[in-house]
Amino acid sequence: TSFSDLGLSEPILRAISAENYSTPTPIQAQAIPHLLEGRDLLGVAQTGTGKTAAFALPILHRLSATRTRPISQGARTLVLTPTRELAIQIGDSFKTYGANLPLTHTVIFGGVGQNPQVQAMSRGVDILVATPGRLLDLIGQGLVKLDRLEVFVLDEADRMLDMGFIHDVRRILKTLPAKRHSLFFSATMPPEIAKLADKILTEPVRVEV
Ligand code: AMP
Repeated sequence: TSFSDLGLSEPILRAISAENYSTPTPIQAQAIPHLLEGRDLLGVAQTGTGKTAAFALPILHRLSATRTRPISQGARTLVLTPTRELAIQIGDSFKTYGANLPLTHTVIFGGVGQNPQVQAMSRGVDILVATPGRLLDLIGQGLVKLDRLEVFVLDEADRMLDMGFIHDVRRILKTLPAKRHSLFFSATMPPEIAKLADKILTEPVRVEV
């Protein structure tokens, strides 16, 4: 398979070519066609497998296919990830793959002042990448609103559990609309993570690499 066989739009294919990616990785080849159709996904995959593009490319494709505008302080897509480093990396990936699309994104994490993040959210964004603690804090202050979310990605779910973020994740989940497109990634599937996946996903496709 090539990227063009997967059904991605031309602006996205151009961005991929500019990165010199020649063929999709296994998780990309297996996940992208289902995600383009709006299926929920359980991805059992580690970092380094190309999982970021596996979710970012179809999300960009679907967001750009509709004229929906983000609401003030809202996001159309939320990617929750456990660390600041991962959040920045994922934000950079959306920027690279979405270079030819008119979509906005921002990154929110703790340990820095909240004002620039609040400012970045004032008009709303198409894609929000966040770590759980700071996001929950901003939701609590009424500065981020997720009630119109369309797509939810939980990245590195097992690390969320190891780092003690699982309660924050559950609280964030309660603020999301029930009707949404959900993606769940974890390198391992201990029972507590399998239970969480079951709660978040509806009839998911399972891809394990
Ligand atoms: P990830 O697993 O998402 O952290 O991606 C690991 C690395 O692989 C990143 O540096 C990506 O830029 C790169 N990458 C992702 N997909 C491809 C691809 N299809 N071909 C070549 N490199 C890729």
